[in-house]
Amino acid sequence: MKQKLDTFCNLCKEKGLKLTPQRIAIYKALLGSKEHPSAEAVYEEIHKTLPNVSFDTVNRTLNTLTDIGAAFIVEGTGDVRRFDADCTSHQHYKCVKCKKIFDFSLETFENIKVPETITGEFKVLRATVYIEGLCKSCQEIKKDKRSDTM
Ligand SMILES: [Zn+2]
Ligand SMILES: [Zn+2]
Repeated sequence: MKQKLDTFCNLCKEKGLKLTPQRIAIYKALLGSKEHPSAEAVYEEIHKTLPNVSFDTVNRTLNTLTDIGAAFIVEGTGDVRRFDADCTSHQHYKCVKCKKIFDFSLETFENIKVPETITGEFKVLRATVYIEGLCKSCQEIKKDKRSDTM
């Protein structure tokens, strides 16, 4: 956490961004969460300690964090953007029902070889594997429903 915060502070300096207490708090909240939270979820967390920070500020700050590369938006998340401050190489799988997003790593996926048809004309920034499915608890809900109707 401490090391990541230092990296973040350096990144802000590099990009000429002021290190306001709000920015640090929002980054910390995102970094401390394993849930890949939406802007709303980050706002709820921030609101507990900084009740004067508006949702708009949280939303804008998350966009700024994404712009400078301190965070990114998790792919394939539909209407509500979900943020991740863990910029180390990792992949995601998402439960399509409860929308939980989990991290996973697999060596072959960390070094994805992008075909030359793409790299020839396209500057690749990120290549990730994204898996959709049903998490354990959502699978159980499905089973329960099935036994109800039988
Ligand atoms: Zn689920
Ligand atoms: Zn992640």
